[in-house]
Amino acid sequence: MGRKERAGQATEFLAKTRSFRYRLFPMEDDDFTHYDEAVQEAVDLANRLADNNPEADLWDIADGILAGVVHYWLYTRQPCGDPTCGDCDSISTAEERLKELLRITEELARGSEYFHSSYDLNVGRA
Ligand SMILES: [Zn+2]
Repeated sequence: MGRKERAGQATEFLAKTRSFRYRLFPMEDDDFTHYDEAVQEAVDLANRLADNNPEADLWDIADGILAGVVHYWLYTRQPCGDPTCGDCDSISTAEERLKELLRITEELARGSEYFHSSYDLNVGRA
């Protein structure tokens, strides 16, 4: 799919994501955590960038946000330096941090309503 075609899908995607907050966070405001706020702000940022740049390739916007998120996640997961620290067990080397990042990313991807598509090649059509 080319840049223009993806940009053409922006309208449909944005229409869907405008109600993202409601669908993702149907709970009371009191339950709105920093995690929820970060998720919502990331989606809002993507939608704002797409709204402000109608010709933009949504893949570029999404890839840029993903790159920023990966950098920030790694920044926050630097081990504290105490070799006996239990909190840092799963992130005590670069490879362990990558493994943890990929585990979380896969979990989030598989849990996303956008993980499967009716256009997936392995979806049968009658
Ligand atoms: Zn630690």
